[in-house]
Amino acid sequence: MRIGIIGAGQLGQMLGFAARDLGAEVRFVDPADKPPAAVCGKVIQSAFDDPVALIALADTCDVITYEFENVPVEALQHIAGIAPVYPPAAALRHSQDRLDEKRLFNELEIPLPDYHGINSREDMDAAAEKLGLPMVIKTRRFGYDGKGQFVAASTDDLDAAWSELGDQALVAERWVPFDYEVSCIGARSVSGEVAIYPLSRNSHTDGILRTSRSPVDAPELSTKASSFVERLLDHLDYVGVLALELFVVGDELLANEFAPRVHNSGHWSIEGSETSQFENHLRAILDLPLGSTACNGHAGMVNLIGEITETTRALKIGQMHDYGKTARKGRKLGHITVVADTAEERDTQIDRIGRSVT
Ligand code: AMP
Repeated sequence: MRIGIIGAGQLGQMLGFAARDLGAEVRFVDPADKPPAAVCGKVIQSAFDDPVALIALADTCDVITYEFENVPVEALQHIAGIAPVYPPAAALRHSQDRLDEKRLFNELEIPLPDYHGINSREDMDAAAEKLGLPMVIKTRRFGYDGKGQFVAASTDDLDAAWSELGDQALVAERWVPFDYEVSCIGARSVSGEVAIYPLSRNSHTDGILRTSRSPVDAPELSTKASSFVERLLDHLDYVGVLALELFVVGDELLANEFAPRVHNSGHWSIEGSETSQFENHLRAILDLPLGSTACNGHAGMVNLIGEITETTRALKIGQMHDYGKTARKGRKLGHITVVADTAEERDTQIDRIGRSVT
């Protein structure tokens, strides 16, 4: 059994390790020289939308998946009919356009912050009028880790927001004074079997995920989030792992976005769950029975961003995953997973790692 993966970054690498444990081979397409996943299998070095490379991948693999959501949907059409591609293109299409994604949440009655589509400078004024200020203006496409976003605090900021982002289609969102952020990760197999992970509580700085902790002691929120993920999985006839990010406001959840792939906020599952999100993604696309998503205690994850300091390496707390990437400001280079018997113990370990990373 050989699995083709579009993208050979750290997610591809962790999928590759999970494939090895399942006795499957992996092959990648990625434009980078020596990407992180090259340690797991052959990489066809080529652009993600190169039809020749994608056809070469599909011709030599039993099933195709991808590790990031900016794969052009049209590129997948080159290989349709050669090998099955999961998650399905419809999920990818919705997740690539924030306005489309919000309409899908509405259709599925998944609550979300009020929003307004923006195609002109006048639309920006109308959005401010409708949503109030501050509001968050986001590019509809290709935004990630807080990039392509502008928080307009007053009407004086609207010109600056327009000159920074106005050359692209935009969507404005009401500013959410959330209590905290969570994500809910679910898997659905070719046969329609569904497994949902316990909620992760996530903290971000500058739009980039810093820490995740799971489980979250909030049974009602967990039930609600799981039902939202199940709705998405069923509606999209989804196959693979999907992550839904949500804001918690009191007893309410508001959906921010979903990713049709394994997700950084589920990295704790490698050591912290009976079955990692990577293994369950592969099980789903190979139509194997899904593994248990139960936590092995209280799990947490700290991202190692920009550099992995000697102090962090010397700590020897938890399990370090070094993706083998060249250090660069703002770049995700690795993460550490901790698993403890109590939430307090887990949090103490996360705090110690957190102090070592800066
Ligand atoms: P995103 O790229 O949409 O995931 O946004 C990155 C981060 O920016 C989120 O994880 C939040 O911390 C923050 N953020 C995004 N949208 C909003 C919003 N409407 N209100 C408040 N904070 C937001």
